[in-house]
Amino acid sequence: MELTSKKTLVLGAGKSGVSSARFLAKKGAVVALHDRKPISEWSEEAVALKNEGVGIIDGDLPSWLLDQIELVVISPGIPTGTIPARYVDRKDGEVIGEIELAYRFMKGRIVGITGSNGKTTTTTLLGEILRKDGLETFVAGNIGTPLIEIAEQTTENSWTVVELSSFQLETIRHFRPNIGICLNVTPNHMDRYDFFSDYAAAKHRLFMNQTEDNLAVLNADNETTSSWESGLLAHVTLFSLTREPDGGLFLRGNDLVSRSGKSERVLMSREDIRVKGLHNVENVLAASAAALACGVEPETIRAAVREFRGVEHRLEFVRELYGISFYNDSKATSVDASLKAVSSFEEESGKTVLILGGKGKNAPYEPLIEPIRRSVSAVVVIGEDAPRISRELSSAVNIVEASTMSDAVAKAFDAAKSGDRVLLAPACASYDMFETYEHRGRVFKEEVGKLG
Ligand code: ADP
Repeated sequence: MELTSKKTLVLGAGKSGVSSARFLAKKGAVVALHDRKPISEWSEEAVALKNEGVGIIDGDLPSWLLDQIELVVISPGIPTGTIPARYVDRKDGEVIGEIELAYRFMKGRIVGITGSNGKTTTTTLLGEILRKDGLETFVAGNIGTPLIEIAEQTTENSWTVVELSSFQLETIRHFRPNIGICLNVTPNHMDRYDFFSDYAAAKHRLFMNQTEDNLAVLNADNETTSSWESGLLAHVTLFSLTREPDGGLFLRGNDLVSRSGKSERVLMSREDIRVKGLHNVENVLAASAAALACGVEPETIRAAVREFRGVEHRLEFVRELYGISFYNDSKATSVDASLKAVSSFEEESGKTVLILGGKGKNAPYEPLIEPIRRSVSAVVVIGEDAPRISRELSSAVNIVEASTMSDAVAKAFDAAKSGDRVLLAPACASYDMFETYEHRGRVFKEEVGKLG
């Protein structure tokens, strides 16, 4: 892709926008970086791009500028239907996201990982497996480091594991992963999509450029992903907790088994997996399917899984006090993730006191009723969506209202008995009370640390 002197506009001055603008400027493009927020609220890094020749613009974009733009790089936080993107698109300018831009400068092979839940866990684990095998490995994307920052470090021999959100997939064009994994598709982000099918279609784009030479790894137990199997050009490997697909990976009793044609191989036992919950068995099956396709030996996969302790803010054990354990799953920002978190403890003794609430995503909480009936003794609600949660769940469980995280932790601790656990798995985004889910998780851990 030739960028010299190209007139480019980067929409959104967040992390991926800043990295894209810097990349474009280094490549000799004429770059404007725009964000609606006043420049006084931009990060120092974003404002400093001025010194690298990037024009920085806040508020409304001047109309004359749009007429000249040849390439728009749009950040995942900005709806693709936004007027600047639409106008440039209609005059034959190109509108892409940071992932697509990075792809055009990458070498080597790529594993793309998407899904409603489990992306970061699976991306991290697969990265660790590939590294353990001695492969030259990069891990990037939605997980933290923007792909554009490492794009030109990749080599013919490298493997890049990329975590991809549905928003990032909306703005790819030629991006084609050698291996694509979709872990699951469940209602999430329904605040940004009109229909569930629109959200699912965004996820499906991961596979749209794949050919017979590529691999798609799909969850056989998820209604949406399993329905994609027959329609893909790529070779498909299924993974399942409930059935034994031909050409797939599955759980049989305590064994994680890989089957190809008539031959079967036990990869590891469930006891090798330290991270809690059946959903993490799914993540291990998916990562293993990809690792096998990368040529990693089962022994290496098993060794890396045995060492894997999970990722911060995902069912993270915080401490035990008077026989009560505290778990931080602040990353459970959807109803489904929260449900998985609650279910992860069902095989253990004791009850769960669950902290729910935050900025809701307009998805019903009703799927939580059954698991709550099985193992939750009380629900403490916080944040903007607390009234809706109370309304939808009060028939199933005792609801306690709390005003702050400190109040929620104190009330949850009060409601728990020795042998129980307190679980923060809020089923909501954090933005009503916190900067990010990480911030929410840290505050929870601080408050838990102060108890006793
Ligand atoms: P993502 O990056 O897709 O948000 P994470 O790995 O960060 O996924 O996990 C997010 C939340 O989802 C965590 O709270 C975790 O407990 C839960 N989770 C992890 N893996 C799965 C899965 N395969 N299915 C459902 N929920 C999951």
